[in-house]
Amino acid sequence: MFVRPEIAAMIGYTPGEQPIGASKFIKLNTNENPYPPSPGIRRAIEEVLQRGLQKYPDPLANAFRTRAAELFGLPSKEWILCGNGSDDVLTICTRAFVGPGELLRLPYPSYILYRTLAQLQGARWEEIRFQDDWSLPPAFAAAGPGLKLAFLPNPNSPTGTMVSRSAVLDLAERLPCPLLVDEAYVDFAEFSCIDLVRQNEKILVSRSLSKSYGLAGLRFGFLAAQPQIIEQLIKVKDSYNCDALSIAAATAAIDDTAWLAENRRKIIATRSRLEGGLRQLAFDVIPSQANFVWATHPHRPAKALYEELKVVHVLVRYMNYPGWSDGLRISVGSDEQNEALLGLLRKSV
Ligand SMILES: *Cc1c(COP(=O)(O)O)cnc(C)c1O
Repeated sequence: MFVRPEIAAMIGYTPGEQPIGASKFIKLNTNENPYPPSPGIRRAIEEVLQRGLQKYPDPLANAFRTRAAELFGLPSKEWILCGNGSDDVLTICTRAFVGPGELLRLPYPSYILYRTLAQLQGARWEEIRFQDDWSLPPAFAAAGPGLKLAFLPNPNSPTGTMVSRSAVLDLAERLPCPLLVDEAYVDFAEFSCIDLVRQNEKILVSRSLSKSYGLAGLRFGFLAAQPQIIEQLIKVKDSYNCDALSIAAATAAIDDTAWLAENRRKIIATRSRLEGGLRQLAFDVIPSQANFVWATHPHRPAKALYEELKVVHVLVRYMNYPGWSDGLRISVGSDEQNEALLGLLRKSV
């Protein structure tokens, strides 16, 4: 088949379903935001269209970098790398740090894409189980042959749990390689580690505009790290990895801090109603710091529940993590979506 054996052997990452005619579905399977984004985004995109799209965009997205450095308390734009979604940033880091046959470390259970990134690179990966309190064991920070990068989603997916700031600092001090803290969901959480990049060059923090800014369709994410690291990563990225429309829209999005604060408030309020509603129906729900919850039921298999809901056009994510658990990862939608879901489950469990 001509392709490298690593590619032929791998299965490939399967993103959550995006059904055709998605508007007929209550879609709670890929952690999208249920609310429209900041109105500033439309204006920013229209301005770019007025100027025209004949010219290449700024390869480094400096307008975004400058504003992001100010808003996130970093010394200058040289501390920011922009990407075509934060998945692009994760890919760039994997390509830059991990060579064929070398080792990538990740917690278990966590984001499935990390394995795919290792496979694409012809690298090995090692999964370290979270402890019962959702902290990481010392093995996560231990040296290992060929260990070149560790990923830590914080909040984690699919559990919505977090590792403390002091634990992140401690892990970075002990690890012999960079620790990429994936903060795709951090705007729904109680704390962030983005400022810790100033304290240790091994700490890299990625952010996404897909979830908390309601811009999954736009594709924009970024990485915060010390400038000597960013400078190297720039060599690895595609020359124009972010387009002119997304750079302008993403800059407008982070600028509207009032929109973000209000969205965060709404999602967190609905999340607590969702957790409460599920617990009333005897689900076990892990307390979440993200815009989704992980739910299992003592008597009803998760797969069957997922399928029943799908028949009535409610999509949640069924996930199976061998050796840990299977269950439902349910995105926090609007209150109406939440009520519809709980209403259906009330009849079903
Ligand atoms: C959604 C998600 C991302 C990727 O987000 P994009 O910016 O849309 O590429 C990264 N990490 C985790 C853990 C996610 O859930």
